[in-house]
Amino acid sequence: MRNRSILAVAEHAQGRVKPSGYEVIACALRLESFRQLRVLVVLIGDQPEAPAREIFQRTGLDVIAVQTPGLASYNGEAHRAILTDLIAELDPACLCAAHSSQGADFAPGLAARVGAACITAVERISVDSDCVIFARGASGGKLVAELAATTRLAVITVQPGAFSADVDRRYPQGSIEFRTVNFEPHRSRALGFKPGATCDKGLSEARVIVAAGRGIGKQENLSLVQDLAAAFPRSAIGGSRPVCDMGWLEYKSQIGLTGATVSPQLYIACGISGSAQHVAGIRDAGFVVAINSDPNAAIFNVADLCIVEDLTTFIPTFLAELHRASETPTSKENGR
Ligand SMILES: Cc1cc2nc3c(=O)[nH]c(=O)nc-3n(C[C@H](O)[C@H](O)[C@H](O)COP(=O)(O)OP(=O)(O)OC[C@H]3O[C@@H](n4cnc5c(N)ncnc54)[C@H](O)[C@@H]3O)c2cc1C
Repeated sequence: MRNRSILAVAEHAQGRVKPSGYEVIACALRLESFRQLRVLVVLIGDQPEAPAREIFQRTGLDVIAVQTPGLASYNGEAHRAILTDLIAELDPACLCAAHSSQGADFAPGLAARVGAACITAVERISVDSDCVIFARGASGGKLVAELAATTRLAVITVQPGAFSADVDRRYPQGSIEFRTVNFEPHRSRALGFKPGATCDKGLSEARVIVAAGRGIGKQENLSLVQDLAAAFPRSAIGGSRPVCDMGWLEYKSQIGLTGATVSPQLYIACGISGSAQHVAGIRDAGFVVAINSDPNAAIFNVADLCIVEDLTTFIPTFLAELHRASETPTSKENGR
């Protein structure tokens, strides 16, 4: 009997596989290591040939490239219809997709359609007594929810950054199967893309980023964050999503999954809880300092320096101390 498969739906654009595609494949390979399963990569789009060859050459995995003539842009209806047919044909044990705007769009509807469990934003996978456990962040990252599917098929979406995209070549003999599906969407059609609010160039070039979270309490307290940033050369100000949603900062300052990904040498998180969605944007930061009044805040799990203080008292005290230290003449300057 043939092993059941894990379908890894890899996103691609401009003839290249997106990094999230390899993260999804890495997640599928992790699942494969627990069970007698085989990974099958699925690509959907009007030009899937080049990315299919890229995956085949890099991993040696089996690939199914479904060409959808005329559908240049992603279409959720098409994805759901094509994957429903593939699931009926292949009876996979799991379907993995990126937790991206695409995956988050088609995965829940697909799962409902085929009667599968849907587990989103998966960050870790483990096995306990033959049961595969999917872990994801909950309560803004304060808790880790562990879930197991009780259905024959599980549809999961993979949290960006949770699995390394460095997938090594593993299989010597894969195959690429090309299929063509003519699909005419009835319910929605893509009208095109418009440039969004661009990431603040200051964020991408800053050596130090001071970021404000909801914990700053009120918009006026942004001045504390601004004063702290001013203490460092080549610094910029960023924020968590609620701070941008409330209009305290512009969206171009948002850091995280749906905002900017930043890589400063020093990142100072002020009143930020440390949700997985925020932390996704600071994985490449050098040294992370977190100021938070809650000693159990999840941000402390990723911080190099944890300051459990009320930021409204800590920042002014710190700046006053810094000011005092810079004004105190050194013994050399005193001529002693
Ligand atoms: C699909 C999706 C995408 C998302 N994308 C993003 C994203 O890109 N970026 C992002 O940031 N979020 C994103 N979010 C939202 C995310 O889940 C969190 O809700 C958000 O990051 C929480 O922001 P926060 O930490 O500022 O606020 P909160 O979670 O409310 O945390 C505030 C923190 O401040 C602390 N605090 C309170 N008062 C003080 C004080 N006086 N001194 C010190 N500390 C204090 C509290 O202890 C708490 O830890 C996304 C969510 C979803 C569902």
